[in-house]
Amino acid sequence: MDLMALQRIVDDCSARDFRIVAIVATAGTTDCGSIDPLDEIAEIAGHAHTHFHVDAAWCAPLIFSQRYQTRLAGIDRAESVTIDAHKQFYLPIGSSVLRMLEPHAATVIEKQASYMLQEGSGDLGKRALEGSRSGSALLLHAGLNIIGPQGYGWLIEDNIQKPR
Ligand SMILES: *Cc1c(COP(=O)(O)O)cnc(C)c1O
Repeated sequence: MDLMALQRIVDDCSARDFRIVAIVATAGTTDCGSIDPLDEIAEIAGHAHTHFHVDAAWCAPLIFSQRYQTRLAGIDRAESVTIDAHKQFYLPIGSSVLRMLEPHAATVIEKQASYMLQEGSGDLGKRALEGSRSGSALLLHAGLNIIGPQGYGWLIEDNIQKPR
């Protein structure tokens, strides 16, 4: 992301009294793994009083690499982050994570239905974008316990070496 262009657009929206819904950065483009300058974008989003989201579908597991985790500096400032566990977490397709900085913000996607997901009940996954689902969070739980942060760190570093 071009920070100067982003700032120009933010200033332009402000001058026109347009409300910015969100600024979305990418932590790992699908084609070449480019990571936006997250810390700087977080700063701009903060000044613009808008939601800062990071699409970390591809590169979130970098966080487990001592060598490369600094590339994700600023990701902790994102109000929301999406992570695909079915990519560099090596899990079956459909395993994904939406991480909210402020857990209560997830109420905006909360749904109720009389036959399940009732208000105040402990139904699994009541905060979700989809209805019935396969419980694939267990796969990520298993991966993090079996492969572990060190194992994922090794895998990601090995992957980065391969095309070189
Ligand atoms: C794969 C990918 C997506 C799409 O995610 P799916 O869960 O596979 O639909 C979005 N953003 C990036 C950067 C990706 O690599």
